[in-house]
Amino acid sequence: MIEPLKMRLDHFMAAANASYYAQKDPFADFITAPEISQVFGELIAVWMIVVMRSVSWQGTVALVEAGPGRGTLMSDILRVIRQSTPGIYECCKVFLIETSPRLRRVQQKKLQEHGQRVQWLDSIEGLPQLPIMMVANEFLDALPIRQFTCHGRHEWSERYVCQGQPVQKRVYELPQALVFDHPVQKGDTVEVCEAGLGFVGSVARHICTYGGAALLIDYGFASWVWGDTLQAIANQKKVSPFLPIGMADLTAHVDFPSLRETALQNGASVYGIQTQGEFLRQMGITLRAERLAGQALPVEKREIMMAVNRLIDPDEMGDLFKVMAVCHPEIPVPPAFEQVNEKRS
Ligand code: SAH
Repeated sequence: MIEPLKMRLDHFMAAANASYYAQKDPFADFITAPEISQVFGELIAVWMIVVMRSVSWQGTVALVEAGPGRGTLMSDILRVIRQSTPGIYECCKVFLIETSPRLRRVQQKKLQEHGQRVQWLDSIEGLPQLPIMMVANEFLDALPIRQFTCHGRHEWSERYVCQGQPVQKRVYELPQALVFDHPVQKGDTVEVCEAGLGFVGSVARHICTYGGAALLIDYGFASWVWGDTLQAIANQKKVSPFLPIGMADLTAHVDFPSLRETALQNGASVYGIQTQGEFLRQMGITLRAERLAGQALPVEKREIMMAVNRLIDPDEMGDLFKVMAVCHPEIPVPPAFEQVNEKRS
């Protein structure tokens, strides 16, 4: 792609990630929770089953994953659902929201045993009028952000990218999503992810109209903070986010408090924001890991326990990653959120 001279940061990030995911194997550069341990997907399946059992839906349920990567998470979820609740498996349809044709082929291969049950969508707007059980892991962090820097009262500039360098452009109006009460001082940079807010708004509206719940898992903040969180990875190393389009994976911290507000404004109930470590512990990760290790050879046993530790240890993924549930208001408090019930609707 030929880059225009000056691109707004979110346009640059969207183009960079579309090109990166279309050409590269992202998992050569970073590893995600479902790729670390099968226990992650298994516990999400259990969460979904408990939620589905707590309501009396009749008929088809759409199992949805946004940004399914290699298809590992959905494969682990479907294995558990098929084994433990064949009735739910028989009446579910699977929808994968994925824009990369290359990753769609990888997912097709991984999930081929589930045949026609699995379909692909370009965006959430393509979902059928069915209740959903959705998961999105490390999807929101890949969505494009805009960055604004404060230069004084009512004086702001926005970040653009020009020939591999960040540049600022004066702006006279901030996006609606950024009109906040938070104190901001001269020199502060604030970020907004309009694509993420749009996505969560659509999820909440779908859930309120047709029923269901969504589990959003990502690295980010549980309370409002500001600063520049844009980062890029290429060949397993941190690099400049302004490398030519397609050379690196660009991500930003997910602003969960804003996503929670959006879901609430659209009528959904929200639970969390909870740390991944706490969520997985409450879902019984230790017991599940011990069971799995009990059936394994000594060398595998160590690997299983190390992988699980990586998911929950506060110094690894346990604290940085957050979990938030968006639910239809009639769904009872979902598992692993009982002790941090922040339901507001
Ligand atoms: N959830 C997976 C993969 C995370 S990588 C896991 O946990 O392993 C991010 C995924 O989101 C990739 O599948 C990428 O192709 C997809 N993606 C990124 N931006 C997207 C967009 N705007 N719409 C749909 N999918 C997107």
